[in-house]
Amino acid sequence: MSNPVDAFMAKIIVKNPGEVEFHQAVKEVAESIMPFIQENPKYLYPKILERIAEPERIIIFRVPWMDDKGEIQINRGYRIEMNSAIGPYKGGLRFHPTVNLGILKFLAFEQVFKNSLTTLPMGGGKGGSDFDPKGKTDNEVMRFCQSFMNELFRHIGANTDVPAGDIGVGSREIGYMFGQYKKLKNEFTGVLTGKGLEWGGSLIRPEATGYGQVYFAEEMLNTRGDSLKDKICTVSGSGNVAQFATEKAIQMGAKVVTLSDSSGYIYDADGIDEEKLAFVMNLKNVKRGRIKEYADKYRCKYVEGKSTPWDVPCQVALPAATQNEINGADAETLIKNGCFVVSEGSNMPSTPDAIEVFLKHRILYGPGKAANAGGVATSGLEMSQNSMRLPWTRQEVDNRLHQIMKDIHATCVKFGKEKDNYINYVNGANIGGFVKVAEAMLAQGLV
Ligand code: NDP
Repeated sequence: MSNPVDAFMAKIIVKNPGEVEFHQAVKEVAESIMPFIQENPKYLYPKILERIAEPERIIIFRVPWMDDKGEIQINRGYRIEMNSAIGPYKGGLRFHPTVNLGILKFLAFEQVFKNSLTTLPMGGGKGGSDFDPKGKTDNEVMRFCQSFMNELFRHIGANTDVPAGDIGVGSREIGYMFGQYKKLKNEFTGVLTGKGLEWGGSLIRPEATGYGQVYFAEEMLNTRGDSLKDKICTVSGSGNVAQFATEKAIQMGAKVVTLSDSSGYIYDADGIDEEKLAFVMNLKNVKRGRIKEYADKYRCKYVEGKSTPWDVPCQVALPAATQNEINGADAETLIKNGCFVVSEGSNMPSTPDAIEVFLKHRILYGPGKAANAGGVATSGLEMSQNSMRLPWTRQEVDNRLHQIMKDIHATCVKFGKEKDNYINYVNGANIGGFVKVAEAMLAQGLV
């Protein structure tokens, strides 16, 4: 096999059978990194890329709990401790019925590069369960979270591994897990991020991923002397990231016209304003209802059974739901309708075909590991505040977040600028994230 990426991937596929999302994430990185390693052979003999693609440790465990009817339920829990070269493992927990080993390994792998890009000292990890919080009562969610932590607590710690939220894990779930950790360990430490403000959380953490995604879009637009002002934006999802991406985009003068959930999407041609967004936040975070209720209330278009809004004309697309939510055909449709900016809030939302389309058309394409790094960066700021036992103001955290997003953008430009001055943010993010981790691994020897 002549192509080194194909040869490398053949081994990855044999070693990690059936884990298609993991293969996808590793291949995308290998395509950027392999040529860079050829130019920098010091990374070749120590097999840095091969080592980065092998998790340091994987923990899989049983999570038994009792539902409100008294029936025993059994879920599976996971924690992937991927890489600790530059700091404690750090990355979210996902509770969703589709969770499996391959999905968590792709997320943990991406997290290593993303955390490195933030410039903060955080290694990469990810975890979660096939538990579905949807339709469960608060008591059921609490019992599940407690059982999950009954095993996870022995593997994590403020200096070892610091989980956070992700799909299906918000402030409610973090609260229940933190409570159980504290009870089991008899200590109050910064072992989870995304905590409530009264008990060690950071201002701006809930907003951070969506705000960062929009700051990144603005940075990309600035490279072409443009801005978000008056741009039509489509957003997918209606959870944590989507809500705050919408909020920040509105604040920056853009018009957001769509939101979605797994049942369908709404298209509000008048734009979602602050009052309508407040309705969405209450609907999703308190009532835990469906996005269709927005269309009922504001009498706009609702497309049932289609969870992605990529056929709605826009200039800026802000995916914020889940992986592989933009395929090649969606990408073509976006471009045909005038979209020239894609800033990813979700992790790996674009399939390889979609990425190819974006790069072929030379649009401003910000991959998730750069564009959504604001969330974990602010988790890092929460860890700093926990260590100092000193909270920062909202403005201070937001300023730091904004600066980190600018720095990540600058790193992408440094490593991703091509001969014709086109910025390939895929290469920029992958190489920029790789170098710091690789240097630390070289320095620390074969461990
Ligand atoms: P939430 O659980 O708050 O919201 C997820 C949203 O996406 C919901 O609207 C959900 O709809 C929709 N969704 C989830 N899975 C699917 C699916 N398979 N098909 C269609 N729609 C789906 O999660 P977050 O907002 O926290 O996360 C969204 C994305 O952002 C994820 O990819 C996550 O990994 C990424 N991310 C999150 C960070 C964070 O800080 N929270 C940090 C960095 C990245 P429904 O309710 O119907 O399931």
